[in-house]
Amino acid sequence: GFTRIDGKKEAKSIRDEIKIEVSRMNASKNVVPGLAVILVGERKDSASYVRSKKKACESVGIKSVDVCLPEDSSEEDVLKYILSFNEDPSIHGILVQLPLPSHLNEHNIVNAICKEKDVDGFHPFNIGLLAKRGSEPDFVPCTPKGCIELLHRYNVEIEGKRAVVIGRSNIVGMPVAHLLQNEDATVTTIHSKTRNPEEITREADILIAAAGQPNMVRGSWIKPGAVVIDVGINHVQDLNVPSGSRLVGDVCYEEARKVASAVTPVPGGVGPMTIAMLLSNTLTSAKSIHKFQ
Ligand code: NAD
Repeated sequence: GFTRIDGKKEAKSIRDEIKIEVSRMNASKNVVPGLAVILVGERKDSASYVRSKKKACESVGIKSVDVCLPEDSSEEDVLKYILSFNEDPSIHGILVQLPLPSHLNEHNIVNAICKEKDVDGFHPFNIGLLAKRGSEPDFVPCTPKGCIELLHRYNVEIEGKRAVVIGRSNIVGMPVAHLLQNEDATVTTIHSKTRNPEEITREADILIAAAGQPNMVRGSWIKPGAVVIDVGINHVQDLNVPSGSRLVGDVCYEEARKVASAVTPVPGGVGPMTIAMLLSNTLTSAKSIHKFQ
């Protein structure tokens, strides 16, 4: 049979668990976990992600503080906020919404977040620990963690399986490949220079698509019975809907469902899990800073 992997439902049950932990911590330590989100510029998609994160924080009792800075902010402007959140005892997680405007140096800005509050897991310290065998990062990037969490929650065996990741970005492809390898999958990464990608994806027991290419993965790219995780969020024109556009993933869902054993939908798959993992990382950080089990 075919399984539609319901990220929305799993994210809801994770949020319910977090809410209980937040109130347990509050009762015992009188501490409310706090997340600071910094947004620079006016990208509509970024602004909508920041709103969703804020709403999700509210739903579980995490305090969120957001700072919206103008497009032409200097590196010093952004660093000033990061340094003050680093010192602020009411803040346990700091996140800079990416991508930044092109005049800003992402590396310098992400590096300034103290590693104890790096709830996005993008600091080189945490990426280094993710890549190093035998060590575990304090924080794992949220979207990759959400993908693996879905595999776990749907009892998908990873050990010894062939996993193929489409995309090698710092945000999704690279960290998710490390996580799969750490769970003993045999991992291949495909990127924009890969030739004949469909020959490689057809070998995958687990296929993770994070290329940002609408409907790139066709039914014929998928091994019968494979599990497919679609990370892509792409807006495509659709004149039949009032907004004039709709969301699609990197996987052609209607074709995939006829070949794969399980597929995540877009929307309602990885997206909600990403936000649930951010809340989870923020709670973990608050627990660790306040030595609460
Ligand atoms: P990115 O643009 O930084 O990276 C895309 C990667 O895909 C690159 O490594 C590139 O080499 C590869 N790629 C591009 N075209 C390709 C092709 N034709 N064949 C093979 N590889 C190709 O994007 P990203 O930040 O990694 O995000 C990827 C997608 O995931 C986007 O659609 C993004 O919106 C989405 N996303 C979703 C979430 C979520 O929460 N669901 C979070 C982050 C990103």
